[in-house]
Amino acid sequence: MTIQETLPVPGKSRAGSVPTHCPYCALQCAMSLTPTMGAVTPATVVGREFPTNRGALCQKGWTAADLLEHPSRLTSPLVREVRGDRTSRFVPASWQTALDEIAEGLLRTQQQHGRDAVAVFGGGGLTNEKAYALGKFARVALGTSQIDYNGRFCMSSAAAASNAALGLDRGMPFPLTDVQGAGTVVLVGSNIAETMPPALQHFEIMRAAGGRLIVIDPRVTRTALNADLHLQPVPGTDMALALGLLHIICAQGAVDEEFIASRTAGYAQVRAAAQAYRPDHVERLTGVPSSLLHRAATWMAEQSPHRHGRGTMILTGRGGEQHANGTSTVHAFINIALALGLPGGRNSGYGCLTGQGNGQGGREHGQKADQLPGYRMITDPAARAHVAKVWGIDPEDLPGPGRSAFELLDALGQRGGPRAMLLMGSNPVVSSPSAARISDRIASLDFLYVADFFLSETAALADVVLPVTQWAEETGTMTNLEGRVLLRQQAMVPPPGVRSDLEVLSGLAARLGQGQRFPAHAFPSDPQQVFDELRRASEGGRADYSSITYARIQDEGGVIWGGERMFVDSFPTADGRARFVPTVFTGVTEPTDSHYPLTLTTGRILAQYQSGTQTRRVESLVQAAGQPFVELHPDVAADLGIGSEDRARVTTRRGSVVVEARLSGAIRADTIFMPFHWAGEGRANTLTSDALDPTSRMPEFKACAARIELEVAKS
Ligand code: SF4
Repeated sequence: MTIQETLPVPGKSRAGSVPTHCPYCALQCAMSLTPTMGAVTPATVVGREFPTNRGALCQKGWTAADLLEHPSRLTSPLVREVRGDRTSRFVPASWQTALDEIAEGLLRTQQQHGRDAVAVFGGGGLTNEKAYALGKFARVALGTSQIDYNGRFCMSSAAAASNAALGLDRGMPFPLTDVQGAGTVVLVGSNIAETMPPALQHFEIMRAAGGRLIVIDPRVTRTALNADLHLQPVPGTDMALALGLLHIICAQGAVDEEFIASRTAGYAQVRAAAQAYRPDHVERLTGVPSSLLHRAATWMAEQSPHRHGRGTMILTGRGGEQHANGTSTVHAFINIALALGLPGGRNSGYGCLTGQGNGQGGREHGQKADQLPGYRMITDPAARAHVAKVWGIDPEDLPGPGRSAFELLDALGQRGGPRAMLLMGSNPVVSSPSAARISDRIASLDFLYVADFFLSETAALADVVLPVTQWAEETGTMTNLEGRVLLRQQAMVPPPGVRSDLEVLSGLAARLGQGQRFPAHAFPSDPQQVFDELRRASEGGRADYSSITYARIQDEGGVIWGGERMFVDSFPTADGRARFVPTVFTGVTEPTDSHYPLTLTTGRILAQYQSGTQTRRVESLVQAAGQPFVELHPDVAADLGIGSEDRARVTTRRGSVVVEARLSGAIRADTIFMPFHWAGEGRANTLTSDALDPTSRMPEFKACAARIELEVAKS
């Protein structure tokens, strides 16, 4: 009997609940899914006890099963009625026709314009198996260097800084439960009360035991309301704030001299650079009173391990990272962590709160333009030789590094850029900065092929759309924000007409003459075999999964790669020491001026997720948060004659959008905020800047100059 035959079929049968994990964010909350029973009882989920979520789910998690049998679910491949005319309507097609058409388009493009004329774009929500397979497909079946993924927009600055300073990028190098025992936790630009509410439990336990939470955020978010100290800097000045904190810590003589001497390099230069950031100067740069800076620095120092405190943690999120100086900003916070001797200490250290469901695993196994599986660099000859051997090809045949995500999207259809693209698990028409331009670039491609389970705004521009399985209909592993590799088991048979991404890649590889290199992906695919190949490809790499098996994950409830707590004795650098990296505050790329006097910052809200392809289709989430808005301070609104719920026009150098105005004293008067989950006239990313961090190539989503005016008063 095959696994398909043992599984409950939607609308026909029922089995007991299946242990699984949420399809959304990097907390990967554990849940139990009860599949569909009969035609009237839909699939349901309940939270399951697990170290990260302790049985709780957020609104998105509770409603995750609503999408499994959603009426707008794609269940047949779609092709254009008039081939080559994207204004013609989609018509259903067989899988054979659709895959033939895609393979023909890819081959023709490469024959006419070269291998790099085809781009591949992935997503941070894809399982490890799919992320691995997509990277292999790009490099082996297509031979293109042009692959990257939307995770580049998520945490690439923290990854770049962690690699350079600590020798490794693993979001949190300690379990989330360690938060409970800490004495001081600093959250930099992370609103976990809305983005991952179940995680708040750990912070509440920490505070109930006398620990203190410091939140650094320009907005008085729900997380900031729960904090013992809220520092509210001008958007884009987090690095100056970090330099000010280090200045105070050095001036107080609170650094861990022994740790610095025995386990780090480069402190003297960083200390010298921090001298210039006196608290009064930092107050002028950031707007944060120097008295609060002193209080934060004191709390951080007194709880650090060398002072026999309970532990100090610094956790960064997108607020600090999504800037053109994001990598340097993270370095500035890691420098504080090193000065206080936090890494490897009890309930202490630096970590990044990864956002997307498989943001961690997705960047470890080959979707990124410069990486091969196991977090190996594609420019490293030894790495190329190892991976090429696993893939059965000559290392010489492996392409080199390609363009980063935004640069890749911006090159589409342009002279020297890709002319065709295969896209999985991403919706850049909504999620990319300068989205109007990127939308035009995507539309200018000769061929666009998209695999998704709904007709996203990007899929709507495609030549061919392939309907693929959702989380509960396929087996695969995800790596959560702690580096914990989890198994999401197949719980339901997918609707007829739907295939997994692995099967899509196999079908295409066969048509490109490379089917023999993708045997485990063939219909029906075997994700476990793909994972076993990933294990071999990652062996010896920085993210080594070779000892992790499906059986171990099931037995142990997840396996944290590299060990639970890292950096206890040494760092994985050439000499075992961490690196202080000097930073100089540079400010935002686009300062305000008389035409654009406000700073626009963007982010997520509780009831929606990323580009909204899924959550905008869940009725209860739409009722909770159904439309885009701009949040502004009541004083600014009064000056501009904008009232609550009026329609307001927000304009930046990239364009303008019209959305509902919401007045809130929780935001700085010099700042406005928009969530980025919507398309069309409420698309926040129409406005955002495409300035890129020079190291991570992360776009500056979190700050650009804007103006706001009344469009239509509420009737
Ligand atoms: Fe899902 Fe994240 Fe919500 Fe947990 S916090 S239920 S993983 S969206």
